[in-house]
This record gives sequence, structure tokens and C-alpha cells, in this order.
Amino acid sequence: MPLSVLERVAAETLDWGGTGMSVMEISHRSKEVAAMCSETQELIKSLLGLGEEWEVLFCQGGASLQFAMLPLNFAGPGGVCDYVDTGVWSTKAFQEAQICGAAPHMAASSESDDFTHIPDKFDFSPKPKYVYLCTNNTVRGTRWATFPQDAPGPLVGDFSSEFMARKHDLSKFGLAFAGAQKNVGPAGLTIVLIRKAFAETARKGLPRMLDYRVYLEHGSMYNTPPVQAIYVSNLIFKWLRDEIGGLAKMEELNEAKAKLLYGYIDQTGGFYRGTAQVGSRSPMNVTFRLAKGELEKPFLEEAKKEGLSGLGGHRSVGGVRASLYNALDIQAVETLISYMSAFMAKNG
Ligand SMILES: *Cc1c(COP(=O)(O)O)cnc(C)c1O
Repeated sequence: MPLSVLERVAAETLDWGGTGMSVMEISHRSKEVAAMCSETQELIKSLLGLGEEWEVLFCQGGASLQFAMLPLNFAGPGGVCDYVDTGVWSTKAFQEAQICGAAPHMAASSESDDFTHIPDKFDFSPKPKYVYLCTNNTVRGTRWATFPQDAPGPLVGDFSSEFMARKHDLSKFGLAFAGAQKNVGPAGLTIVLIRKAFAETARKGLPRMLDYRVYLEHGSMYNTPPVQAIYVSNLIFKWLRDEIGGLAKMEELNEAKAKLLYGYIDQTGGFYRGTAQVGSRSPMNVTFRLAKGELEKPFLEEAKKEGLSGLGGHRSVGGVRASLYNALDIQAVETLISYMSAFMAKNG
């Protein structure tokens, strides 16, 4: 998280906006909190350039609960919905649709290539309720550079690990969601963007906390929303707008960081080797291996001693992963590269 935001949160924990209290201590029904929540929704819409046809919802239960809410609301028992499997999170979303009693159809998968790329050939159903994809694959280090333009149903997507990292092309989407904790702020908040016309097609009569209509009808205040997480996200969005200068600028910065690191990896003669195919590389999660597998453990251990923590690959795949989320600046990438060069010089 940006230091300026952390400092402001620390200061406002004792007195938020002259209330003499923190956001945590004020009723979510107070006019202050209500205003802060709607301002946050407006910030999201204006950063993303979303028009009146979109609504912003605040949910809980993480991205993982969206895996179930989507089929429950939009497919229903036996309802056909298409999925593209790019590994781990989309696999889980597919399985959740099965558990919910829908009839998910796998329209494409890169599993046979060990999920090293984003599929470009699809076998869509004739009329799926929606077409699901995960836009940035946190574990495999791949991302959709562009989205399918000719899908036979509205796209719905998991944007968790790249939300607000670039200008999102939502033109074909009915719904987009993101757990806040990857690229926005604190855990506990899931941001859901929903197109009003798509929301109209949702089924009725679901348990209330699983029903998108209930969130829409109550401005995401049917029950107590995660106010502290919304408040911190609000500050992050203002940082993005005022200190970074908006999403186009954020995208430029993120691309520069990724270019630097991939560029370095590619000229180490295979000592370090990116796991994703070049055209599918994620600028957010740079996953790579060391040609000498036995060096991966010392690489991570020594990195930690140098203050470079959190570089281990996801427990399901191992290897190394550098997550270049919004708040990480290019100096941090330079530090990582000097560590990698020194490690290679010693062990190459
Ligand atoms: C981390 C992650 C999830 C899981 O998020 P939770 O909020 O913990 O449920 C889902 N999708 C993607 C792409 C992720 O990176």
C-alpha cells in the first residue's frame, strides 16, 4: 500500500474528518459513512470511465463467494454457462458452478500446456447465460491482453489481481468483480461492477446475501458493509487519481516495471526463465524459475535476508513470483534486479 495512504489511515484512526472517532467506530447508517461509501462508488466509476449503465456493489466473502453468486444468480439449476480455464482461480470458479447445480461448459482451457498461455480458440455453447474468465492469473503469471469480442453471451470476469492496474475494456462485460486485497487495499471487501441490464436478468428468490438485486436495491447497505475496508480503498482510489494521475498513467507505470523485469529475465541466457509464454505474460505477477532448480530455495532465502520478501511462487506451483502491484514502485524492481544479478554472478 502507498505510504501516504497508510500514514493518513494512522492519523485518521484517532479523528476521522472532525468526528473525533475512526471510521470503525461510527454507525454505517451515519451520514458520514454513507457519504464516504457513495463517494467511493463514484471514484471507482470515474477512474474506470463507467457510465450510468453500471452500478458498483460492495460485497464480502472475497472473490471466492463470487464464484458461487454468479451461477446462482445468472445460470440457476441446469443453466448453461461457459468458462475458460486458465488455471487455479478459474478452475475453482468452474467447480463452484457445478456445486451450485448449474451446467458449466468448458469453452477453452490451457491445462494441456500447463496453463502457460491464454487460450485463443473457443468452443462456446450456442447460448450461454454468460462467459466466464479470469483476466489476470495470479498463480500462473498470465493475463488476457484483450478479451474475446465475439462471445455468444455477456462476459463476466474475475479482475482480482489486476483491478485498477490498467484501463479495463469492459465493453463486452455484464459483470466484473475483484477482491480488494490484491491490488486495491484491505481484505474483506469485494468490489462488483454490474451492468444494470445484466442485473435485470438475475434470478429471483435467492437467499438475500447471495442476491445481487438485494445489494442493488439497498445501495450495498442491506447489512453492515465492510466500512473500514471501503474507507481505505477510498483513499487508495484518491491516491490513484491525484498522486498517480489516473488509470492510463498507472498502466504506463505498471508496463514499465514489467518490461524492466521481463527484459532482464530474458537476457540471463536461461539462468532465470519466465514460465508464461511471451504473448500471455502478466505485468502484475511475474512468474519465473531458475534453470538449476536446486538454486530456487537459496535464491528465496537469501532474497529474504536482503529484505526482498514474498517472492515464493504460489504453493501449488512453486518457483518464484514477483508481484508488481500498483503500490510497488520501479525502484523496488531495480532492487530486485540487482539482487538477481548478484545471485547469478555468484551461482552462474
Ligand atoms: C486471490 C485471488 C482469488 C481469491 O480471492 P479471495 O478474495 O481470497 O476469495 C480469486 N481470484 C484471483 C484472480 C485471485 O488472485
